[in-house]
Amino acid sequence: MAWDFSTEPEFQEQLDWVARFCEEELEPLELVFPGASRSRDPKIKAIVDPLKQQVKDRGLWALFLDEDLGGPGFGQVKLALLNEILGKYPSAPAMFGTAAPDTGNMELVAAYGTEEQKEKWLYPLMNQELRSAYSMTEPQGGSDPDLFVTTAVRDGDEWVINGEKWFTSAGAFADLIFLMCKNGIFVIPKGTPGVEIMPNSPIAHSHIRYTDVRVPLDHLLGPENGGKVLAQRRLGGGRIHHAMRAIAQCHRAFDMMCERALSREAHGKVVAEHQMVQEAIADCYAEIKMLRLLILETAWVIDNSSTQEARTQIAATKYTAAKVLRDVAYKAMHVLGSLGTTNLTPLKAMWDGAPTMSVMDGVDEVHKVTVARNVLKGYRPHEGLWPTEYIPAKAEKAREKFQPLLDSDPELKEMAEKMARRQAFVRG
Ligand SMILES: Cc1cc2nc3c(=O)[nH]c(=O)nc-3n(C[C@H](O)[C@H](O)[C@H](O)COP(=O)(O)OP(=O)(O)OC[C@H]3O[C@@H](n4cnc5c(N)ncnc54)[C@H](O)[C@@H]3O)c2cc1C
Repeated sequence: MAWDFSTEPEFQEQLDWVARFCEEELEPLELVFPGASRSRDPKIKAIVDPLKQQVKDRGLWALFLDEDLGGPGFGQVKLALLNEILGKYPSAPAMFGTAAPDTGNMELVAAYGTEEQKEKWLYPLMNQELRSAYSMTEPQGGSDPDLFVTTAVRDGDEWVINGEKWFTSAGAFADLIFLMCKNGIFVIPKGTPGVEIMPNSPIAHSHIRYTDVRVPLDHLLGPENGGKVLAQRRLGGGRIHHAMRAIAQCHRAFDMMCERALSREAHGKVVAEHQMVQEAIADCYAEIKMLRLLILETAWVIDNSSTQEARTQIAATKYTAAKVLRDVAYKAMHVLGSLGTTNLTPLKAMWDGAPTMSVMDGVDEVHKVTVARNVLKGYRPHEGLWPTEYIPAKAEKAREKFQPLLDSDPELKEMAEKMARRQAFVRG
C-alpha cells in the first residue's frame, strides 16, 4: 500500500536548510539590496555569488532539471516541496538557478538541443552567464498558435524571420530570445539586426518587431514545424512550477491573516472571535489544503508518467492555483484592514499577482476548456431516454437478477415489493 504523505528524513534536512537559508540570508539581502540576486554589478555579485555557491554546494542548483538534462533530478514531488518554500521569496528562483523565463528555455535546449547548442546556450544559461526571454504571444493573436503570423523562411545558410511579438518578459534585457515562429522555435542572440523593441512596451514585457532577422540554420531548436510540441513541453512544466510557488504565497497570506486576527480587537472582541472571520480562516485553510493536494498529486503523476500524461491535471492546477491565491490574498488583505491595502506588507503584491496568474501561461478559460474536453473523452452519451443512474431502470435490471429467488419464495417477493413501494414513496 504505497500511499504516503511523509518526507524522507534526508530530504527534509534539505528543506529545512532551504527554509533557513531563505529566511536568514536571502530575505535580509533582498530587503537591503532589492533585485540583488539578478544583478550583474560586480560589487553586488561579490555578495551574492558566495550565497549561490552555497546553494550549488548543497546540490540545489537548477533543481527543476532532471539528472540526464544536467540538474539534480529531484522529480516534481520534491520540487513541489522545495517550491513551497521558495515561492515565499520573489528572488529565490534566481538564487537557486530556477528563474523564469530561463528555466523553460533551458529545459527546451536540454531536451531538444544538439551538443553544440547545449555548449553554446544551455550551460551558460545554467550558470546565469546568459539571460533569455521567450517570445511567443502575438499582438493580434494572443497565445493561440493557429493565429500566429511570425515566420522563418530559409534563405541559403540562414533563416530570415519576420513578425511581431507582444509581452516577451525580459525581452529588452535578454542575451538570447527563444522566438516561436509558425514553423519552429529559433534562438535569436542579442544585437541581431532587425530586432526592435517597440516604444510604449510594458517595462518588464517587451513588444518586439522582428524585421528580416537573419540567424544561421543551426539556430532552429528541435525539428522544423516542431514549435507546438516544444511550447507545450515548456509551458507544461512552467505552469505547475508557478502553481507550486503559489502555495507558498497562500501560506504566507494565511499566516498573516491568522496572526493579525489574534492580535487585534474590534467591536468588543478579538478579531479572531468574530464568526465571519472564523469562516474566512476555515475556508482559506481548506482551500489551501485542497490546492496543495491537487498539486502534489499532479507532481506525483508526472514523476510516474510524463508531463504529457498529466496535462489535464496540470491545466487544473494552473487555474485552481490562481483562484485560491485570489481568494486567500483577498481575505487576508481584508482581515488586515487598512494595513492590508498598503504595500507595507507582502499582501498587496500577492493580490496584484493573483489576476496576473489567471492570464499568464494561457488564460484560465483555455485551461478549463482543456480539462473539460479531456475529461469528457472518458464519457459516452447514455442510450435511450434515461441516464445510466436512472433508478427505476436500474431497479428493473436488479429485479431480473433476483427473479429466480423471488419466484422461489413468495414471502420474499412480497417483502421486496413492499420495500420498493416504500422507497418509491420516499423518492417522490
Ligand atoms: C506576467 C505575464 C508574463 C508573460 N510572459 C510572457 C512571455 O515571456 N512570453 C510570451 O510570449 N508571452 C508572455 N505572456 C503573455 C501570455 O502568454 C498571454 O497574456 C496569455 O497567453 C493570454 O493572451 P492575451 O493576453 O492575448 O489574452 P487573450 O488571449 O486576448 O485573452 C483575453 C481574454 O479573452 C477571453 N478568452 C480568451 N480565450 C478564451 C477561450 N478559449 N475561451 C473563453 N474565453 C477566452 C478570456 O476572458 C481572456 O482573459 C505573459 C503574460 C503575463 C500576464
